[in-house]
Amino acid sequence: MLALRKIDDAEGVGLCDVAAPPPPATGEVQLRIAATGICGTDLGIASWAAGYAATMRTRLPVTLGHETVGRIVALGAEVERLALGDAVVVNPAIACGACVACAEGDPVGCLDRQAFGMVRDGAFASHVNVDARYVYRLPGSVPLELGALVEPLSIGAHALAVAGFARGDRVVVFGPGPIGQGAAVLARAMGAAEVVIVGYRDTARFDTLRGLGFDRLVDQAEAGAADRLRQLAGRGFDIAIEAAGVGAVVDQALGVLRPQGVLALAGMGEATASLDLTLVVRNRLQLRGVSRIPPTIWPQVIERLARDPAAYAPLITHRLPLAQAHDGFALARSGVASKVLLIP
Ligand SMILES: [Zn+2]
Ligand SMILES: [Zn+2]
Repeated sequence: MLALRKIDDAEGVGLCDVAAPPPPATGEVQLRIAATGICGTDLGIASWAAGYAATMRTRLPVTLGHETVGRIVALGAEVERLALGDAVVVNPAIACGACVACAEGDPVGCLDRQAFGMVRDGAFASHVNVDARYVYRLPGSVPLELGALVEPLSIGAHALAVAGFARGDRVVVFGPGPIGQGAAVLARAMGAAEVVIVGYRDTARFDTLRGLGFDRLVDQAEAGAADRLRQLAGRGFDIAIEAAGVGAVVDQALGVLRPQGVLALAGMGEATASLDLTLVVRNRLQLRGVSRIPPTIWPQVIERLARDPAAYAPLITHRLPLAQAHDGFALARSGVASKVLLIP
C-alpha cells in the first residue's frame, strides 16, 4: 500500500510502497482509513524541526498521519466494545504503559509516549492497526470525513477547558489556523458571549471564519489593528487563546485581558516571548500551557460534532489523494488552506 513516511534523519517526507499491516494483534483493531488531516506537527516533522528530530530520530522510518478517521475492517482478540464497520477516530497520544507516570496511573502524563503517526506507524496510508483503547466511535449522523477534525478540535476544546471557560465568557483567539478556528467554533457552540479572532494576513482563513458567521476579525497587518482590538476588548476579555505560536502575541494578549483573565497557550514556536511583569502581577493574570489532552475531551468533542456537523464542515477546505501528499503539505504550509485532508 502507499504510505507517506518520514524516511531518514533529514528534511522531507516520502511516498513509499509498504506492506499492508498484519492481522490486528490482541487488543488492536485494523482501520481502513477514510481521510487524514495534515497537521502543523506533520509540517514540523517534514521540515525536521529540532524538537521532532530529537524524539523521532531513532524510530525511523515511520508512517505519519494522526488526525484520522476510518472504518474497522478487522478486530483483534479481546476487543469488545467495537464492531466491524464502525466509523472511528484515533486518539494518537498512546501511553507506553511502562514509565513512572504510567505505573502511577497517569497515562496522560506518560514520559515516553508512543505517538501514533510519529513514533508508531500512523494514518497516511490505506490501512493501519491501532490499540482499541485509543479508538472512539463516531455516530452515524456525523459525515465520515468530519471525524478527521476531532483531534485538532480536541486541542481547542482542551484549551477552553484549561482556561476555565464558562458560558457567557468573552473570548479572543490569536491565530486563525485550524486550532484557533476550532477553538472559536467550540467557544461559540458552548455559549461564549463574544468571540474575536486575531490574525496576520490570514485572508483565506478569515474568509472561512466569515463563512462560519464570525465577523469580529482583526488583521494585525492593517493600520489601526491594535486600537481596534483594544476597542473590541472593552474592559477586557475573560479568556485569550494563543494558537499562533508567535512569541510577540503573548504580551499583546495579556494587554487585552480583564483582571484575573486567563491566557491559554496552545501554539508552540521557536520564538521566545516577553512579559510585562507589572501588568501580569497587578492584574493577577494567569498563563497556562495547553498540552496532553485528557481522554475525556474526546467524547465531548464527538458529541459537539454530532449535535451540529454543519458548523464544523467548512473547517475542511481541501481534499487531495494521498498520492498528491506533497501538494497537500504545500497547501497546508501556505496558509491558504484551513484543514487539508489526504484521502488514501
Ligand atoms: Zn494534529
Ligand atoms: Zn508511559
